[in-house]
Amino acid sequence: MAKYIFVTGGVTSSLGKGIIAASLAKLLQARGLRVTIQKFDPYINVDPGTLNPYEHGECFVTEDGAETDLDLGHYERFLNIFTTQANNVTTGRIYQTVINKEREGAYLGKTVQVVPHITDEIKRRMQLLGQGGEYDVVITEIGGTVGDIESLPFVEAVRQLQWELPEEDSVVVHLTLIPYLKAAKELKTKPTQHSVKMLSQEGVHPDIIVCRTEKPLGPELRRKIALFCNVKQEAVIEAADAPTIYEVPILMMMEGLDTIVLKKMNITGYGEPEMTKWKAFLDKLKYPKGKVNIGLIGKYIELQDAYKSILESFIHAGAMNECKVEITNVHSEFITQDNVSEKLAGLDGLLVAPGFGHRGVEGKIVAVQYARENGLPFFGICLGMQMAVIEFARNVLGLTTAHSTEMDPDTKEPVIDLMEEQKKVTAKGGTMRLGSYPCTLKTGSLAESIYGVSSITERHRHRWEFNNKYLEQFEKAGMIASGKNPGTGLVEIVEIPNHPFFIGVQYHPELKSTVENPQPVFVHFVKAAKAYADKKMETRSAVLKGEMI
Ligand code: GLN
Repeated sequence: MAKYIFVTGGVTSSLGKGIIAASLAKLLQARGLRVTIQKFDPYINVDPGTLNPYEHGECFVTEDGAETDLDLGHYERFLNIFTTQANNVTTGRIYQTVINKEREGAYLGKTVQVVPHITDEIKRRMQLLGQGGEYDVVITEIGGTVGDIESLPFVEAVRQLQWELPEEDSVVVHLTLIPYLKAAKELKTKPTQHSVKMLSQEGVHPDIIVCRTEKPLGPELRRKIALFCNVKQEAVIEAADAPTIYEVPILMMMEGLDTIVLKKMNITGYGEPEMTKWKAFLDKLKYPKGKVNIGLIGKYIELQDAYKSILESFIHAGAMNECKVEITNVHSEFITQDNVSEKLAGLDGLLVAPGFGHRGVEGKIVAVQYARENGLPFFGICLGMQMAVIEFARNVLGLTTAHSTEMDPDTKEPVIDLMEEQKKVTAKGGTMRLGSYPCTLKTGSLAESIYGVSSITERHRHRWEFNNKYLEQFEKAGMIASGKNPGTGLVEIVEIPNHPFFIGVQYHPELKSTVENPQPVFVHFVKAAKAYADKKMETRSAVLKGEMI
């Protein structure tokens, strides 16, 4: 049977509960324990798939096709494991299950209530992953902030579970904020005291307090927090602001977060965390030898969480190439033929981001054209790949009206069209082509050289696809389909062999990049950008030396 760690948050949102939970999981995993993490979100959407990125950041997709919270991305990137539908549960999903059961007559004769029916369903799901013997520890992150109305049933479920489980089988870690008041030149513990009190009023007493702080806590303050929050002093953990999230496991190790968790749960027989590989990655990240500048062309660039996995994939790929990847965000809505060379000046590579709907697509098409015509390394993801196809159709094949039926349902040249199986779909939630599908790579292609194998699987989230009626025309003109679904022939990858690096993928490679396994397309794209930057430098110094006219 697994043991359970619950992570709650107090005072404010955005304290980085997901990163603390993932860091703790990493340390336990690095000691040899089998660990998984799940997130329970208190909102009523059944999953975040229908949420706008402005509301909720990126929607992460698992192998089994679940649309989930972006924290699951952190879990996978830190732990190098796959999560599943079971790792992300929302209030909406809980209620949906209970209401469906009620309709089936499962509670016949009874009044269905938050306690016990909703809390029972929460508890059942909290223990689902821990029951198969697959894991020693299951970490559950409770979304939201203690004191929110909507998180009450979750906290109540934790209270009941703690009461039901043997004393040593569960631990509650509470993440809180210790604000620094500039005027008083002091760190303040009162908000933490209040949030712990609130949690206690709801029946849950934290065993460990993790304190987010800009300044070191010092022994006095630690003692004060311990005394007023009723935990041992060693259970007060400082979580100082870190230059990168990948530093957090190391900081937590130095603070002894994992040691105290193991002690509380009486888990013995595991050595110190084996973090050699992680530290080697951190070293490469912190001391890069070079630098490249990648343009990220998207329409949600104001909100960095919208492209979380892409940005993290660049961090992994950068470390692998021992170079810092600087990202220049370019809003696709404002790119035009007239300003494109100015907007994209100084870049060493161009990534056109995924997306939905017509806003900003013309700017993306102009950006692709610039990359294609100027030999600038190009990488298009999902909508980015579709835009590369449209650009090629319009400017190389001369199909000037070419478009995707997503943006122009009546286009005469639907080079990107709705997938056949999508035509009858009307419901929005969970109905895209989601999750992992196989893809066969063309011999001798860039894709094959990137992956080093001829068959891969990658994750998806889309409704439209390359229209195969045009394939022959494209291939004759120099854009080839180098990856296809072996069963359906759906085009998964396009590339232009006659270009230094031009690749568009229908899938989302960013969802599978981890610290230990950086995603190959990102790694090779950064490498190509580096080569491009080096060449630029060479040309410049040659000019300076007067070797060129
Ligand atoms: N809107 C496009 C589609 O549904 C692309 C989706 C995406 O970029 N994730 O096919």
